[in-house]
Amino acid sequence: MKAAAMLVAQRMYSKFASESVPRLATQLIHADNINNRVTDVAPPINVSTTYRYDNNELVAWTERSGANDLDFWNQTPIYSRLSHPNSVRLETVFSKILQGHSVVYSSGLAAFFAALMFYHPKNLFIDQCYHGCHGIANILARNGYANKRSHNEIESMAEPGDIVHLETPVNPYGTSYNISEFAKKAHDKGALLMVDSTFAPPPLQYCWDFGADIIMHSATKYFGGHSDLLSGVLTVKDEKTSQLLKEDRIYLGTNVANLESFMLLRSLRTFEMRITKQSKNATDLVAFLASNKDTKFNKVIENITHFSLQKESDFVKKQLIGGYNPVFSLSLKKSEQCKKLTKKLRYFQHATSLGGIESLVEWRALTDPYIDQNLIRVSTGCEDIDDLIADLDRALTELQNEIEP
Ligand SMILES: *Cc1c(COP(=O)(O)O)cnc(C)c1O
Repeated sequence: MKAAAMLVAQRMYSKFASESVPRLATQLIHADNINNRVTDVAPPINVSTTYRYDNNELVAWTERSGANDLDFWNQTPIYSRLSHPNSVRLETVFSKILQGHSVVYSSGLAAFFAALMFYHPKNLFIDQCYHGCHGIANILARNGYANKRSHNEIESMAEPGDIVHLETPVNPYGTSYNISEFAKKAHDKGALLMVDSTFAPPPLQYCWDFGADIIMHSATKYFGGHSDLLSGVLTVKDEKTSQLLKEDRIYLGTNVANLESFMLLRSLRTFEMRITKQSKNATDLVAFLASNKDTKFNKVIENITHFSLQKESDFVKKQLIGGYNPVFSLSLKKSEQCKKLTKKLRYFQHATSLGGIESLVEWRALTDPYIDQNLIRVSTGCEDIDDLIADLDRALTELQNEIEP
């Protein structure tokens, strides 16, 4: 059986194999038991940048074979830019839950940058996605490192070794692209497909099943989940590549920070509960809004975009096997209503970013001159769904009933 097919089979039939293959929630809590160094149940916060050598085990650099060096660093902290106890734990957990070989970084953008430095594509095919990824693509293009191209140039311009970058579900709409279709387009040209799966981490979406070659996440979002840390993760299929990425990371200086690594590890323990609730809450919110859009809120809501409303084809059902993504967008009739809505809401705080336990809305025109100027992005949190619906219902009803000036 092909590796990807086997992973699907394991997930689907794991109730029969539950003793041999722990499920996601268990991995989040126990995968890093193998990294225990002390008897503490909660792993300690390690703030040290440097670690004492074991004077009874001194082996000169030239006497260690290259391949073993990284194992050595993983097991023996030396200097925190290389690795530290909680960055190693994070990599153990991420490698299990993302089903590959994971490397952690100081932010999502640091992960994206590291991938481009490592693969060094001649062309980078990038379209609608997180603005920061465009920012990096622009820097690389400016310095003659990689040409920046759009997705509709893949067929005519892609060459072996190039990278197609696909963000799905995509910011800020919360709608999805067909990963398999992009994998085929890239692979037909010998290019690699990198998927930014930040908006739908497992158990919502498993990108390997659709042909991704590299998966990236901003761990700042759902994995961190509390709007209090920055981190990113790259996952690849082979161990050798992950080791080379770790080696590059030493010199890029982009390992996850000590304190952040502890907080992210702590966050991961409850990740499955959070993402499952956020996904369910978002699905219910969108259903509520969609059913009232043309009646109760017909003077306020122009359009709603979310994967759950995407009807076009089979891939929609297959791609998000674990539930819909917790981000969606509303387009209101007037930009004045956007400003008023953010003021009226009680539980949806007006701020950028997403993925935290607290629900947020953002009038995107504040930071994006190119986007639909009436667009409100909603990041659904873990509050009680009845309270979230009541909050939106009240605020939208007030807007609906406002007398025209
Ligand atoms: C936030 C985000 C990033 C960048 O991650 P940082 O951790 O902020 O560097 C990249 N991609 C997507 C989809 C994001 O939402």
